[in-house]
Amino acid sequence: MSSNDKQGFGTKAVHAGVAPDPTSGAIMTPIYQTSTYVQEAPGKHKGYEYARTQNPTRDALQASIAALENGKYGICFSSGLAAMDAVIKLFQTGDDILCGNDLYGGSYRLLTKVYGPMGIKSRYIDMTNLDLLRKSILPETKLIWLETPTNPTLQIFDIKAICMVAKEKNIPVAVDNTFASPYLQNPLALGATIVHHSITKYIAGHSDVIMGGLIVNDDALAERLKFLQNASGAVPGPQDCFLTLRGIKTLHIRMDRSCENAMRLAQYLQNHPRVGKVMYPGLKTHPQYTLAASQMKNFGAMISFDLKDDSMDAANKVLGGTKLFSLAESLGGVESLIGHPASMTHASIPREQRLASGLTDSLIRLSVGIESYEDLEKDIEQALK
Ligand SMILES: *Cc1c(COP(=O)(O)O)cnc(C)c1O
Repeated sequence: MSSNDKQGFGTKAVHAGVAPDPTSGAIMTPIYQTSTYVQEAPGKHKGYEYARTQNPTRDALQASIAALENGKYGICFSSGLAAMDAVIKLFQTGDDILCGNDLYGGSYRLLTKVYGPMGIKSRYIDMTNLDLLRKSILPETKLIWLETPTNPTLQIFDIKAICMVAKEKNIPVAVDNTFASPYLQNPLALGATIVHHSITKYIAGHSDVIMGGLIVNDDALAERLKFLQNASGAVPGPQDCFLTLRGIKTLHIRMDRSCENAMRLAQYLQNHPRVGKVMYPGLKTHPQYTLAASQMKNFGAMISFDLKDDSMDAANKVLGGTKLFSLAESLGGVESLIGHPASMTHASIPREQRLASGLTDSLIRLSVGIESYEDLEKDIEQALK
């Protein structure tokens, strides 16, 4: 079944990229578990030569994620970080990448610990401040990289406004759209050049796959990224592509339920006597509520909150007390997770720097899943006691 821009998201989620298999009519794209393809004569083949370069299961998935972002090209990698790695490899020693100041820890590590020593510079600024952004762009700045909503403080950056500033200087903008998912936010339509996803999270959605993806419209850029995908070789396997295609079919339904659960839980937390600050873009008290409401279709399913007793100890009691929320890193699956950034995902950041960015000792992060809401609330209620 083909898809087009006029179709609704749900139709694209179910059909885009997926055509009945030509050999049998199988409605589901088969798992092409093969490393190579037999040629009729040297150089005479069906478009497939070697599976690092092309695989039909991967092709279906790449077409699907491109359609979900209303983009022309989708390119998948063996992890979200491998996808980001391909983007950084577009640049050279002496180039500068200007980033939002609240990046996924692994993205920060890749930039500073792998590419920094190789001479690709990265700097981190508050992207809510457009004047600062304008002033921070240097002649050697070649890319702006940002995430919105951010992790774990759930700030919202204005993608359209940032892209307009970048355009004045002809600099491409890459948006890590993992937290929003393509259902809630489409950065290409707002002026971005590259959309990045950790497919591991909402897109695959079932906590059983590690994968990344890039979506772009520019022909030459797509060509270069496909070259890097093949030349560096961090490709996803066909079984993972199949699982992701299956996950995508319910992306819109999962997101609807997760967002609904998250909104109710954020409101519940806001009224709880032991809870301090609740960070959720869907609350009117969120400093960028209006921007979130216009930039996103819904407010997402990540919530951060801290405790009035702002100590690691108090947080640990809550983290140890949940039965339904599992204590784990990651997010975006059907099951709800709870985490403590100060001692888990963000432990490597010095305490003063953490506190300055609003990441307090007792800050707890929730990835709200699709369970029955009442059970989620009960679980948090008994853990807060
Ligand atoms: C998880 C994550 C990544 C990294 O993706 P992997 O699939 O784990 O390599 C990048 N950005 C964000 C926002 C993430 O949550």
